[in-house]
Amino acid sequence: MDNNNPFEIAMRNFDTAADRLGINENMRNRIKHPVRALIVSIPVRMDDGSVRRFEGYRVQHSTMRGPAKGGVRYHPQVNLDEVKALATWMTWKCAISGIPFGGGKGGICCNPKEMSPAELERMTRRYIIEIMPIIGPEKDIPAPDVYTNAQTMAWMMDTFSMNKGYAVPGIVTGKPLEIGGSLGREFATARGTVYTVESGAKYIGLDLSKATCAVQGFGNAGSNAARLISELGTKVVAVSDSQGGIFSSKGLDIDAVIQHKKETGSVIGFAGAEDISNEELLIIDCDVLIPAALENVLTEKNAADVKAKIIAEAANGPTTPEADKILEEKNVFIIPDILANAGGVTVSYFEWVQNVQHLFWKEEEINERLRTIMDVAFKSVIEYKEKYNVYMRIAANMLGINRVAQAAKVRGLYP
Ligand code: NAD
Repeated sequence: MDNNNPFEIAMRNFDTAADRLGINENMRNRIKHPVRALIVSIPVRMDDGSVRRFEGYRVQHSTMRGPAKGGVRYHPQVNLDEVKALATWMTWKCAISGIPFGGGKGGICCNPKEMSPAELERMTRRYIIEIMPIIGPEKDIPAPDVYTNAQTMAWMMDTFSMNKGYAVPGIVTGKPLEIGGSLGREFATARGTVYTVESGAKYIGLDLSKATCAVQGFGNAGSNAARLISELGTKVVAVSDSQGGIFSSKGLDIDAVIQHKKETGSVIGFAGAEDISNEELLIIDCDVLIPAALENVLTEKNAADVKAKIIAEAANGPTTPEADKILEEKNVFIIPDILANAGGVTVSYFEWVQNVQHLFWKEEEINERLRTIMDVAFKSVIEYKEKYNVYMRIAANMLGINRVAQAAKVRGLYP
């Protein structure tokens, strides 16, 4: 087994949870593996006139409880196994949150930092055409992920709509407000993460108004999580992005760091803070650690040095199974990805509901509904943790898998 292959990790966690639930082989054969995976070639005319080929993917892990749902990632490390893993986690995440969706994910292996906006637009539009046979508001609904954003979603919505001949806002979520995006979607992932941190802190008896926090990754999930947790009085002492991190024992002014990153392209070099590496950030002295970048950053090499009492996984798959074991022994309270970052897909679901109903909600209503879903999901995972005496990650997997298995049972096996 490749210890860093996220799909193998997802399958290993499935087996541990399914063993504990006593799920039989027949059911495992129905719900464990992705149901559909499409690999596409995306030829793109570059600004210099040459044509480059990019490889893209769309994976649907499950449509047992509803249409597949999941983001699209643009990154040089994107590959089929990563997308399969991310799609699998989406299935359990939607089930844990009680959202009527299955799990999907997409990605293109590319380096968006080296591409112009026009090249990104042509690549996005061609990708949507190539995966068009398997997506749709009732089939599979893409959303943003690493290095894709509301603009990317607008190009996707436009491409799909132009080919249908009418506007189809429900084809993607995370859209700009002008074309049917939802209020609150931009902050939803981070807001959901911070709600679970509040619940986790209460559970272990940590006073967040006196606590410190470090956040790895300063994009949609990370920068907003840093901002929202600091509003609770928690001192954010360190943040980082792909170029490195910054530390200040006095606490960072997050709005000023966001402004600094806008102006310079990175958090590093922020006045009054000390530059640190991404490795240092993970083991810094703090109460709450929020990984919000990529997979496999907490490993057997650094887990023993982690000081945090709570790890809230805004990122998908940041912790390897080896690190999990070490963190469990250290009694670190992990809020696993499929629970901690479910706020994104929850408000995506709200966006889709508003699109198909052509009726829009107020931001307060959205945040209130999000809070309710996150609180219920947190409580449900804790119930599994206590009932089966298992670690949070396994409890979350058990809850999600059990709900999908129940759905599969009542639907029956076709034909
Ligand atoms: P983003 O593109 O907005 O931001 C990614 C951030 O990670 C950037 O600040 C980048 O500099 C940083 N980064 C990249 N490589 C890094 C490295 N090696 N070390 C440290 N930082 C690094 O992406 P995002 O949407 O915030 O996604 C981040 C994570 O959150 C991903 O795991 C994603 O799957 C997960 N997530 C996102 C959403 C969402 O709604 N956007 C929902 C659920 C989960």
